[in-house]
Amino acid sequence: MTQAAVKVRKVACPSCGETTEYSPTNAFRPFCSQRCKLVDLGDWATEKFRIPDHTPPDLPESE
Ligand SMILES: [Zn+2]
Repeated sequence: MTQAAVKVRKVACPSCGETTEYSPTNAFRPFCSQRCKLVDLGDWATEKFRIPDHTPPDLPESE
């Protein structure tokens, strides 16, 4: 066992499912590309920030 070579870990891109390298050279890991990363973040953002406007709900006046 003399091989100290870094074994590149492969992961499936969470966005498109494409196999990509999970390594420091892949700036977009665990995504395969910048596009996939942005797409995923975009999805996340639109989901998370889809908050209704700040109108207070009309609470029923029931005591
Ligand atoms: Zn991808």
